[in-house]
Amino acid sequence: MKIAFIGLGNMGAPMALNLARAGHQVMGFDTAARPDGLTMADSAAAAAAGADVVITMLPNGQILRAVADQVIPAMRPGAILCDCSTVDVDSARAVADQARAAGLGALDAPVSGGIGGAQAGTLTFMVGGPDEAFATVAPLFDIMGQKAVHCGDAGAGQAAKICNNMILGVTMIATCEAFALADKLGLDRQKMFDVVSTSSGYSWSMNAYCPAPGVGPKSPADNDYKPGFAAELMLKDLNLSQAAAASAGADTPMGALARQLYDRFVEQEGGRGRDFSAMLPRFVEKNG
Ligand code: NAD
Repeated sequence: MKIAFIGLGNMGAPMALNLARAGHQVMGFDTAARPDGLTMADSAAAAAAGADVVITMLPNGQILRAVADQVIPAMRPGAILCDCSTVDVDSARAVADQARAAGLGALDAPVSGGIGGAQAGTLTFMVGGPDEAFATVAPLFDIMGQKAVHCGDAGAGQAAKICNNMILGVTMIATCEAFALADKLGLDRQKMFDVVSTSSGYSWSMNAYCPAPGVGPKSPADNDYKPGFAAELMLKDLNLSQAAAASAGADTPMGALARQLYDRFVEQEGGRGRDFSAMLPRFVEKNG
Protein backbone atom coordinates (compact mmCIF):
# COMPACT_ATOMS: atom_id res chain seq x y z
CA MET A 1 0.00 0.00 0.00
CA LYS A 2 1.12 3.60 -0.53
CA ILE A 3 1.12 5.30 2.86
CA ALA A 4 1.80 8.89 3.88
CA PHE A 5 2.84 9.24 7.53
CA ILE A 6 2.67 12.75 8.99
CA GLY A 7 4.05 13.42 12.48
CA LEU A 8 7.18 11.36 13.09
CA GLY A 9 7.86 12.00 16.78
CA ASN A 10 8.28 9.51 19.62
CA MET A 11 5.27 7.48 18.50
CA GLY A 12 4.96 8.22 14.77
CA ALA A 13 8.54 7.37 13.78
CA PRO A 14 8.56 3.77 15.07
CA MET A 15 5.02 3.19 13.75
CA ALA A 16 6.02 4.40 10.27
CA LEU A 17 9.21 2.32 10.35
CA ASN A 18 7.23 -0.81 11.21
CA LEU A 19 5.00 -0.20 8.17
CA ALA A 20 8.03 0.33 5.91
CA ARG A 21 9.74 -2.81 7.27
CA ALA A 22 6.58 -4.79 6.48
CA GLY A 23 7.01 -3.83 2.81
CA HIS A 24 4.67 -0.84 2.48
CA GLN A 25 5.73 2.21 0.50
CA VAL A 26 5.88 4.92 3.19
CA MET A 27 6.41 8.62 2.52
CA GLY A 28 6.95 10.65 5.69
CA PHE A 29 6.58 14.31 6.63
CA ASP A 30 7.32 16.17 9.85
CA THR A 31 8.00 19.86 10.50
CA ALA A 32 11.01 18.98 12.69
CA ALA A 33 11.83 15.26 12.98
CA ARG A 34 13.93 13.44 10.34
CA PRO A 35 13.99 9.79 11.39
CA ASP A 36 16.59 7.52 9.76
CA GLY A 37 15.31 4.94 7.32
CA LEU A 38 12.23 6.78 6.02
CA THR A 39 11.72 8.53 2.68
CA MET A 40 10.65 12.10 3.41
CA ALA A 41 8.50 14.54 1.42
CA ASP A 42 8.89 18.33 1.37
CA SER A 43 5.36 19.02 2.62
CA ALA A 44 2.36 17.25 4.12
CA ALA A 45 0.47 17.71 0.85
CA ALA A 46 3.32 16.21 -1.20
CA ALA A 47 3.44 13.18 1.11
CA ALA A 48 -0.35 12.72 0.86
CA ALA A 49 -0.66 13.02 -2.93
CA GLY A 50 -1.23 9.57 -4.45
CA ALA A 51 -1.32 7.77 -1.07
CA ASP A 52 -3.94 5.10 -0.38
CA VAL A 53 -3.87 5.89 3.35
CA VAL A 54 -2.65 9.05 5.09
CA ILE A 55 -1.79 8.45 8.76
CA THR A 56 -1.31 11.37 11.16
CA MET A 57 0.36 11.18 14.62
CA LEU A 58 0.33 14.77 15.88
CA PRO A 59 0.41 16.61 19.22
CA ASN A 60 -3.18 17.94 19.41
CA GLY A 61 -6.50 18.69 17.70
CA GLN A 62 -5.56 22.20 16.57
CA ILE A 63 -2.50 20.89 14.70
CA LEU A 64 -4.54 17.98 13.31
CA ARG A 65 -7.10 20.44 11.89
CA ALA A 66 -4.31 22.52 10.27
CA VAL A 67 -2.68 19.42 8.75
CA ALA A 68 -6.07 18.15 7.52
CA ASP A 69 -6.59 21.47 5.70
CA GLN A 70 -3.30 20.82 3.87
CA VAL A 71 -3.64 17.13 3.05
CA ILE A 72 -7.35 16.67 2.26
CA PRO A 73 -7.24 18.71 -1.00
CA ALA A 74 -4.12 16.77 -2.08
CA MET A 75 -5.52 13.27 -1.46
CA ARG A 76 -6.85 11.09 -4.28
CA PRO A 77 -10.61 10.33 -4.22
CA GLY A 78 -11.41 7.26 -2.14
CA ALA A 79 -8.21 7.43 -0.10
CA ILE A 80 -8.43 7.25 3.70
CA LEU A 81 -7.28 9.75 6.31
CA CYS A 82 -6.49 7.86 9.53
CA ASP A 83 -5.62 9.98 12.57
CA CYS A 84 -3.84 8.08 15.35
CA SER A 85 -3.16 11.14 17.57
CA THR A 86 -5.01 11.65 20.84
CA VAL A 87 -7.23 14.70 20.19
CA ASP A 88 -10.56 16.14 21.32
CA VAL A 89 -13.69 14.39 20.06
CA ASP A 90 -14.91 17.60 18.35
CA SER A 91 -11.73 17.90 16.24
CA ALA A 92 -11.91 14.19 15.32
CA ARG A 93 -15.52 14.61 14.13
CA ALA A 94 -14.80 17.89 12.29
CA VAL A 95 -11.88 16.36 10.37
CA ALA A 96 -13.96 13.27 9.52
CA ASP A 97 -16.77 15.50 8.17
CA GLN A 98 -14.28 17.49 6.10
CA ALA A 99 -12.74 14.30 4.66
CA ARG A 100 -16.14 12.79 3.89
CA ALA A 101 -17.23 15.97 2.08
CA ALA A 102 -14.10 15.66 -0.10
CA GLY A 103 -14.95 12.07 -1.07
CA LEU A 104 -12.43 10.48 1.31
CA GLY A 105 -12.70 7.87 4.05
CA ALA A 106 -11.77 8.92 7.58
CA LEU A 107 -10.93 7.11 10.82
CA ASP A 108 -9.99 8.33 14.29
CA ALA A 109 -7.69 5.63 15.68
CA PRO A 110 -5.92 6.72 18.88
CA VAL A 111 -3.64 4.21 20.54
CA SER A 112 -2.60 2.92 23.91
CA GLY A 113 0.68 1.14 24.59
CA GLY A 114 3.09 4.08 24.60
CA ILE A 115 6.49 4.39 22.96
CA GLY A 116 7.43 0.79 23.83
CA GLY A 117 4.28 -0.48 22.14
CA ALA A 118 4.92 1.70 19.08
CA GLN A 119 8.44 0.28 18.74
CA ALA A 120 7.42 -3.33 19.34
CA GLY A 121 4.31 -3.11 17.12
CA THR A 122 2.04 -4.03 20.02
CA LEU A 123 -0.23 -0.97 20.25
CA THR A 124 -3.98 -1.18 20.82
CA PHE A 125 -6.03 0.92 18.38
CA MET A 126 -9.47 2.31 19.31
CA VAL A 127 -11.17 3.18 16.06
CA GLY A 128 -14.11 5.35 15.02
CA GLY A 129 -15.41 5.58 11.45
CA PRO A 130 -17.15 3.59 8.71
CA ASP A 131 -16.81 -0.21 8.29
CA GLU A 132 -15.22 -0.04 4.82
CA ALA A 133 -12.46 2.32 5.94
CA PHE A 134 -11.80 0.17 9.02
CA ALA A 135 -11.53 -2.96 6.84
CA THR A 136 -9.04 -1.25 4.50
CA VAL A 137 -6.77 0.00 7.28
CA ALA A 138 -7.07 -3.10 9.55
CA PRO A 139 -3.99 -4.83 8.00
CA LEU A 140 -1.93 -1.74 8.88
CA PHE A 141 -3.27 -1.78 12.47
CA ASP A 142 -2.14 -5.44 12.59
CA ILE A 143 1.42 -4.41 11.71
CA MET A 144 1.60 -1.47 14.14
CA GLY A 145 -0.35 -3.15 16.93
CA GLN A 146 -1.75 -6.32 18.42
CA LYS A 147 -5.38 -5.28 18.71
CA ALA A 148 -7.79 -2.91 16.95
CA VAL A 149 -11.29 -2.39 18.33
CA HIS A 150 -13.84 -0.80 16.00
CA CYS A 151 -15.69 1.34 18.55
CA GLY A 152 -18.34 2.99 16.35
CA ASP A 153 -18.78 6.06 14.16
CA ALA A 154 -16.46 9.07 13.84
CA GLY A 155 -15.16 10.19 17.24
CA ALA A 156 -15.87 6.86 18.97
CA GLY A 157 -12.17 5.95 19.05
CA GLN A 158 -11.28 9.22 20.80
CA ALA A 159 -14.23 8.77 23.17
CA ALA A 160 -12.94 5.30 24.16
CA LYS A 161 -9.40 6.60 24.60
CA ILE A 162 -10.30 9.48 26.93
CA CYS A 163 -12.73 7.37 28.99
CA ASN A 164 -10.00 4.74 29.46
CA ASN A 165 -7.42 7.33 30.42
CA MET A 166 -9.78 9.08 32.82
CA ILE A 167 -10.10 5.74 34.66
CA LEU A 168 -6.31 5.36 34.54
CA GLY A 169 -5.65 8.84 35.98
CA VAL A 170 -8.16 8.36 38.79
CA THR A 171 -6.97 4.84 39.71
CA MET A 172 -3.31 5.86 39.66
CA ILE A 173 -4.02 8.69 42.11
CA ALA A 174 -6.09 6.37 44.32
CA THR A 175 -3.30 3.76 44.27
CA CYS A 176 -0.64 6.35 45.15
CA GLU A 177 -2.60 7.96 47.96
CA ALA A 178 -3.35 4.51 49.40
CA PHE A 179 0.37 3.58 49.37
CA ALA A 180 1.19 6.87 51.09
CA LEU A 181 -1.52 6.21 53.69
CA ALA A 182 -0.14 2.68 54.19
CA ASP A 183 3.30 4.23 54.85
CA LYS A 184 1.81 6.49 57.51
CA LEU A 185 0.08 3.49 59.10
CA GLY A 186 3.33 1.54 59.20
CA LEU A 187 2.16 -1.06 56.67
CA ASP A 188 4.94 -2.63 54.59
CA ARG A 189 4.58 -1.75 50.88
CA GLN A 190 5.21 -5.31 49.71
CA LYS A 191 2.46 -6.58 52.05
CA MET A 192 0.16 -3.83 50.78
CA PHE A 193 0.85 -4.99 47.19
CA ASP A 194 0.40 -8.68 48.07
CA VAL A 195 -3.04 -7.97 49.55
CA VAL A 196 -4.40 -5.32 47.15
CA SER A 197 -3.16 -6.95 43.93
CA THR A 198 -5.27 -10.02 44.79
CA SER A 199 -8.17 -8.18 46.47
CA SER A 200 -10.94 -5.85 45.35
CA GLY A 201 -8.62 -2.82 45.20
CA TYR A 202 -6.64 -4.33 42.34
CA SER A 203 -6.23 -2.40 39.07
CA TRP A 204 -3.82 -2.05 36.18
CA SER A 205 -2.12 0.79 38.11
CA MET A 206 -1.45 -1.52 41.06
CA ASN A 207 -0.91 -4.87 39.34
CA ALA A 208 0.87 -3.99 36.08
CA TYR A 209 2.41 -0.56 36.74
CA CYS A 210 2.93 -0.46 40.49
CA PRO A 211 3.98 3.09 41.55
CA ALA A 212 6.08 1.81 44.50
CA PRO A 213 9.75 1.08 43.63
CA GLY A 214 10.88 -2.50 44.15
CA VAL A 215 7.32 -3.78 44.48
CA GLY A 216 5.36 -5.68 41.81
CA PRO A 217 6.48 -5.95 38.18
CA LYS A 218 9.19 -3.66 36.77
CA SER A 219 7.72 -0.20 36.13
CA PRO A 220 8.95 3.42 35.79
CA ALA A 221 9.00 3.59 39.62
CA ASP A 222 12.02 1.25 39.40
CA ASN A 223 13.75 3.69 37.05
CA ASP A 224 13.50 6.82 39.19
CA TYR A 225 10.09 7.60 37.64
CA LYS A 226 11.50 8.34 34.18
CA PRO A 227 8.56 8.05 31.73
CA GLY A 228 6.93 5.66 30.71
CA PHE A 229 3.89 7.82 30.39
CA ALA A 230 4.76 11.38 31.38
CA ALA A 231 2.57 13.26 33.86
CA GLU A 232 1.98 16.04 31.30
CA LEU A 233 0.56 13.50 28.82
CA MET A 234 -1.82 12.25 31.50
CA LEU A 235 -2.78 15.88 32.13
CA LYS A 236 -3.43 16.35 28.40
CA ASP A 237 -5.79 13.36 28.37
CA LEU A 238 -7.59 14.48 31.55
CA ASN A 239 -8.07 17.93 30.00
CA LEU A 240 -9.61 16.19 26.96
CA SER A 241 -11.95 14.05 29.09
CA GLN A 242 -13.11 17.09 31.07
CA ALA A 243 -13.65 19.10 27.87
CA ALA A 244 -15.68 16.21 26.44
CA ALA A 245 -17.67 15.90 29.68
CA ALA A 246 -18.44 19.64 29.63
CA SER A 247 -19.55 19.58 26.01
CA ALA A 248 -21.66 16.40 26.49
CA GLY A 249 -23.13 17.56 29.85
CA ALA A 250 -21.73 14.56 31.78
CA ASP A 251 -20.95 14.71 35.51
CA THR A 252 -17.33 13.50 36.06
CA PRO A 253 -16.29 14.69 39.54
CA MET A 254 -13.45 12.16 39.96
CA GLY A 255 -12.09 13.02 36.51
CA ALA A 256 -12.27 16.72 37.44
CA LEU A 257 -10.32 16.17 40.66
CA ALA A 258 -7.72 14.00 38.90
CA ARG A 259 -7.30 16.75 36.30
CA GLN A 260 -6.81 19.33 39.05
CA LEU A 261 -4.23 17.19 40.90
CA TYR A 262 -2.21 16.40 37.75
CA ASP A 263 -2.38 20.06 36.71
CA ARG A 264 -0.88 21.13 40.04
CA PHE A 265 1.66 18.29 39.91
CA VAL A 266 2.85 19.26 36.41
CA GLU A 267 2.70 23.06 36.72
CA GLN A 268 3.73 23.66 40.35
CA GLU A 269 5.11 20.52 41.97
CA GLY A 270 7.92 19.44 39.65
CA GLY A 271 5.95 16.66 37.96
CA ARG A 272 6.71 17.73 34.37
CA GLY A 273 8.98 15.18 32.70
CA ARG A 274 8.34 12.56 35.39
CA ASP A 275 6.23 9.46 34.98
CA PHE A 276 2.57 9.87 35.98
CA SER A 277 3.11 7.30 38.76
CA ALA A 278 5.45 9.80 40.49
CA MET A 279 2.25 10.91 42.26
CA LEU A 280 3.41 8.46 44.96
CA PRO A 281 6.54 10.41 46.06
CA ARG A 282 4.42 13.56 45.73
CA PHE A 283 1.90 12.21 48.30
CA VAL A 284 4.71 10.94 50.53
CA GLU A 285 6.27 14.42 50.49
CA LYS A 286 2.91 16.06 51.29
CA ASN A 287 2.45 13.66 54.20
CA GLY A 288 5.81 14.76 55.63
P1 NAD B 1 5.83 14.00 19.72
O1 NAD B 1 5.77 15.40 20.18
O2 NAD B 1 7.06 13.17 20.00
O3 NAD B 1 5.58 13.93 18.13
C1 NAD B 1 4.73 14.79 17.42
C2 NAD B 1 5.40 15.12 16.11
O4 NAD B 1 4.52 15.93 15.32
C3 NAD B 1 6.70 15.91 16.27
O5 NAD B 1 7.77 15.23 15.63
C4 NAD B 1 6.39 17.26 15.60
O6 NAD B 1 7.51 17.83 14.96
C5 NAD B 1 5.33 16.84 14.60
N1 NAD B 1 4.51 17.97 14.13
C6 NAD B 1 4.01 18.99 14.86
N2 NAD B 1 3.30 19.81 14.06
C7 NAD B 1 3.36 19.28 12.81
C8 NAD B 1 2.81 19.67 11.56
N3 NAD B 1 2.06 20.77 11.44
N4 NAD B 1 3.08 18.90 10.48
C9 NAD B 1 3.85 17.78 10.59
N5 NAD B 1 4.39 17.37 11.75
C10 NAD B 1 4.14 18.11 12.85
O7 NAD B 1 4.55 13.28 20.36
P2 NAD B 1 4.27 11.71 20.50
O8 NAD B 1 4.69 11.26 21.86
O9 NAD B 1 4.78 11.02 19.29
O10 NAD B 1 2.68 11.70 20.52
C11 NAD B 1 1.92 11.85 19.34
C12 NAD B 1 0.46 11.65 19.68
O11 NAD B 1 0.27 10.34 20.25
C13 NAD B 1 -0.10 12.65 20.69
O12 NAD B 1 -1.40 13.00 20.30
C14 NAD B 1 -0.08 11.86 22.00
O13 NAD B 1 -1.05 12.31 22.91
C15 NAD B 1 -0.40 10.46 21.50
N6 NAD B 1 0.07 9.39 22.38
C16 NAD B 1 1.33 9.42 22.89
C17 NAD B 1 1.77 8.39 23.71
C18 NAD B 1 3.15 8.40 24.30
O14 NAD B 1 3.42 7.58 25.19
N7 NAD B 1 4.06 9.25 23.83
C19 NAD B 1 0.90 7.31 24.01
C20 NAD B 1 -0.37 7.29 23.42
C21 NAD B 1 -0.77 8.34 22.61
